[in-house]
Amino acid sequence: MVKQAFLDTDILIVGAGPAGLSFARAVAPCGMRVTLVEKSSEAELANPPYDGREIALTHRSKAFMEELGMWQSVAEDEIYKLKDARVVNGQSDYELYFPQPSTALGKPTDTLGYLISNHNIRKAAYQAIKSWQNVALICEKGVREVHTNAQGARAVLDDGSEIHARLLIAADSRFSHTRRQLGISADMHDFGRTVIVFRMRHTLSNHHSAFECFHYGRTLALLPLEEYLTNCVITIDSDKADSVLKLSPEALASDVIRQLNGRLGEMTLDSTIHAYPLVGVHANAFYAVRSALIGDAAVGMHPVTAHGFNLGLESAHILSRLVNEAAEEGRDIGSNGLLARYQREHMLHTRPLYHGTNVMVKLFTNEAPPAKVLRSAILRLSNHFPPIKHLISKQLTG
Ligand SMILES: Cc1cc2nc3c(=O)[nH]c(=O)nc-3n(C[C@H](O)[C@H](O)[C@H](O)COP(=O)(O)OP(=O)(O)OC[C@H]3O[C@@H](n4cnc5c(N)ncnc54)[C@H](O)[C@@H]3O)c2cc1C
Repeated sequence: MVKQAFLDTDILIVGAGPAGLSFARAVAPCGMRVTLVEKSSEAELANPPYDGREIALTHRSKAFMEELGMWQSVAEDEIYKLKDARVVNGQSDYELYFPQPSTALGKPTDTLGYLISNHNIRKAAYQAIKSWQNVALICEKGVREVHTNAQGARAVLDDGSEIHARLLIAADSRFSHTRRQLGISADMHDFGRTVIVFRMRHTLSNHHSAFECFHYGRTLALLPLEEYLTNCVITIDSDKADSVLKLSPEALASDVIRQLNGRLGEMTLDSTIHAYPLVGVHANAFYAVRSALIGDAAVGMHPVTAHGFNLGLESAHILSRLVNEAAEEGRDIGSNGLLARYQREHMLHTRPLYHGTNVMVKLFTNEAPPAKVLRSAILRLSNHFPPIKHLISKQLTG
């Protein structure tokens, strides 16, 4: 983007990942100067490579992405509808079933949610800010230091240059260096596991149904894309991850077919393979003086419940609404009162989700006999106790 970078700016965002870019787009219409600093190149932001992640999005996230013009720039055949979802435990055939809801956000719907590849979301987020003259992007530079006081924030970049802002936003991933610089502590949990993701083509229909299989020893999730194309997500102890990553495409396909008892017929690898360490993070505060955390820098979820970027969008939504209102009314966009309100609204949702997900993951990866019995009991109870199922469905659809 050939645009003069604002070295004295209203809002400085560290990290032009999907959360940072969405927030920039959401505050752009109020005319303030917004500067994003990003380590990667602009060419990579414009055309991000496939990274194996298929992001499950709720109806609420879709609505916000539409508002930002992001949804419309994803090709229609790259948006996959998720009809329903099933969860099974161990070797049992018993399924916890989540049917498609008849309504979502008060409107009729025929889908539980949507799937879009992470690289397409990143591309759409970049497209959404490109034409705003008041949004500047500084690429291939990292933020090295940040300092804040009651008057404003100052960031020092890798090359020693400085940017001054009224409000500093950290959107620099779950391992946020900016969060640490701001002195904000975080609850961090290393699950000691690795998630391995890739696409497979197959000969039997996936019926557009997501499938989460808590096998003993590993977890296998299936995210349906096209009817005969599915994203496979293997979660395994990190010391065993290499045994999967070193398999030939044919051996990997045989392994997945075996895990699925041939549920999807013959399978062939259809993408590159990507691995991510599983570390969950929840910041203990979402703001400090003249600064706030959004996206994974605020909450980095375990991907099993597919909440990560949905919460990232929610953080951008809440904070941008408060900042836009303040700007329109001529109030301070970085006041403690405003930032405290952002924290209150967002944390109300993130804390129970984060801790609830971690408890569920620990139980469903615990293979002691009492835990196996409890796992099975929870699936049956959830199936037969509508309030629990309704609550889980509501979280899934947003
Ligand atoms: C396997 C997998 C599956 C997932 N599935 C789902 C799902 O189904 N649904 C869902 O909602 N979420 C899902 N997620 C989570 C989702 O991918 C993340 O929540 C989302 O990508 C986080 O976006 P972000 O912008 O906060 O952070 P990031 O994407 O991590 O971006 C941070 C950016 O900051 C930049 N940066 C870092 N440090 C600096 C610095 N010092 N200076 C300048 N720039 C810096 C980085 O280069 C990067 O571009 C999944 C995650 C994984 C790993």
